[in-house]
Amino acid sequence: MSNPYALPPLAALDTATLAWRRDDTEQEAPHSTVFDDVYFSRHDGRAEAEHVFLHGNDLPQRFAAWTRSRPFTIAETGFGTGLNMLCAWTCFERHAPARARLHLVSTERYPLRREDLARALTAWPDIAAKAKRLTDQWPDPVAGVHRLWLDDRVILDLHFGDSVTRLAQLDGRADAWFLDGFAPARNPDMWQAPLFELMARKSRAGATFATFTCAGVVKRGLKAAGFDWHKRVGYGRKREMLAGVIDAPRDDTTRDATPWYRPPQAKPPHHVVVIGAGLAGTTVSHALARRGIEVTLLDRHAPGAGASGNRQGALYIKLAADTNLQSHIYLAGLIYSQRWLAELDPDRTLWQDCGVLQLATSDRERRRQQRFLANHPLPAEIVRPVDASTASELAGTPLTHGGLDYPQAGWVRPDALCHHLAAMPGVTWRQGDVDDLVRTHEGWRVSLTDGAALSAEHVIVATAWQANTFRDLSWLPCQPIRGQISSLPLPSGMTELRRVVCAGGYVPPAFDGRLTFGATFTPNDADARPRPADHEANLTELERTLPAYVAELHGAGALLSPDRLTARCAIRAASPDKSPYAGPVPEADTWRQAYATLAKDATRVPPVSGRYHEGLWVTAAHGSRGLASAPLCAEVIASRLCDEPMPLESSLNDHLNPGRRLIRDIIRGHD
Ligand code: SAM
Repeated sequence: MSNPYALPPLAALDTATLAWRRDDTEQEAPHSTVFDDVYFSRHDGRAEAEHVFLHGNDLPQRFAAWTRSRPFTIAETGFGTGLNMLCAWTCFERHAPARARLHLVSTERYPLRREDLARALTAWPDIAAKAKRLTDQWPDPVAGVHRLWLDDRVILDLHFGDSVTRLAQLDGRADAWFLDGFAPARNPDMWQAPLFELMARKSRAGATFATFTCAGVVKRGLKAAGFDWHKRVGYGRKREMLAGVIDAPRDDTTRDATPWYRPPQAKPPHHVVVIGAGLAGTTVSHALARRGIEVTLLDRHAPGAGASGNRQGALYIKLAADTNLQSHIYLAGLIYSQRWLAELDPDRTLWQDCGVLQLATSDRERRRQQRFLANHPLPAEIVRPVDASTASELAGTPLTHGGLDYPQAGWVRPDALCHHLAAMPGVTWRQGDVDDLVRTHEGWRVSLTDGAALSAEHVIVATAWQANTFRDLSWLPCQPIRGQISSLPLPSGMTELRRVVCAGGYVPPAFDGRLTFGATFTPNDADARPRPADHEANLTELERTLPAYVAELHGAGALLSPDRLTARCAIRAASPDKSPYAGPVPEADTWRQAYATLAKDATRVPPVSGRYHEGLWVTAAHGSRGLASAPLCAEVIASRLCDEPMPLESSLNDHLNPGRRLIRDIIRGHD
């Protein structure tokens, strides 16, 4: 087996190839042609799932008794049609107390195509509404973690890829396991020792498992990994099945080589203060409020007053030609934002998924895009190459260059989105200028310049380039980047752009009769006053990106001169490596001492866990890609804070950890 801790590539997965066979009751059921095995029997698949997996894990009783503030977590190998998980959700609804939450994690190496999934689940009309929630949000077949909110109490994380590879990267632990995945004789590659080992490492104490098979390899593997098992009566014609428990799970060794990233102990709080009401702050407020946590959201101005306050922003990403952690995060972020926005605003009043074209306006960019495509075989629904003529057709205006097309990306109204999120149930918006943050016995005291003070168990700093003005974050590098956008009223009769067109900047379709374009990008400049020179730069870029459109604008009488344009200028924040920060705040001085030996030899890792300021978090440095990164980073923080499985692979969560900058500086000998 290759190194299971290596991150799998950013790539499309093969979908399941099915034959629809009729069983002995003449009912149609999906059959895998790869494994030559059935997903379930249409006749009694539901009853079998309930017998084996639900009762095998004693779920009705355990759900009824679940009073913890963290969610009950079930992990599964082989999601297939999702029948097991939909049954678990149904059982949870029936038995669990009203405030309980459920978290489902499932791996799948050959995801069904959406239409096959819908067809398979028509077999069970009484769970049709649940099946629709699943199929409506069903991800494209891309390796990685896909988070779906099934309802306000139930999250499903689909880990697309091979079970062993995915579980190695699972950042979370299960209370119960559904050990599924076709019969061991038909799928011997999966039922191997590494799988059982990983289950033991990703289990909570007392975690249970259930499986339909009693194969020797399974019994031996589970025993060797530390699970006790016993046989139970199987379902229908199967005489026996296995169920069991692990009282002493194995240590999760994922972070042995990077102990500074071991997460702090978590317990879901009652009240959190979020400082900063831009995209980072409002999305994290929403993520926490959805989990039943009371949120006070503070900003010295209004929601979306800073860099998140533009009328229109592009929901797009730029992925590196060679895969790196940042590209993994941004692709996952883009996919999550699309799903999250579709849920939040199905009527598309806050956003439009019209697609984004990323033009290759130079040879260098063309070569870069070609390399990117060669290295990342992603589904065409996510990103595909287009020539100038297809690009022109898609954009609705003649273009001189082709490029990359992201058909599901688009544009968002960031200002309206921030206001919308700040007004969601569970979020209390309050104007306030924070001048100090002090740790107390109970949590944090947040002092405002008007003399008021708030207390909270946790504080999340989401103040972009000003995040490091707080004492405990003073070490965090945040670079200000000035950005100005320009806009003008669109003359009547003008062609409507049909896609967001990007090259050096971005141009979304006109909104409310105005055409917006930009933005400039001036690092280390925190002056937010509009400048005519920036209008000039935006006009030059507009001409370079959309020459025919600009000619049409001139013909329609538009006045394309700096003194006739409207400006909005704001300061964005970036980290030195251009990845966002999302996670707990390290105690910088303690880290510098604890890990000082890394300066001499970066391979001599002290076996000391990283210490964090208890209850202090940061989400910042989203640069100009916050629409793609902030919603997922909000889930990263909310999941960690609530002690639930993470929405990203361990290595990606670690990359988002602000402490990466401390470690890098220690290794390089900087203070
Ligand atoms: N739990 C499913 C349900 O409720 O419909 C049925 C699962 S089906 C019998 C087995 C699933 O395991 C298939 O979808 C198959 O693609 C998946 N699978 C097989 N080998 C796998 C592996 N190594 N990693 C991840 N998934 C795998």
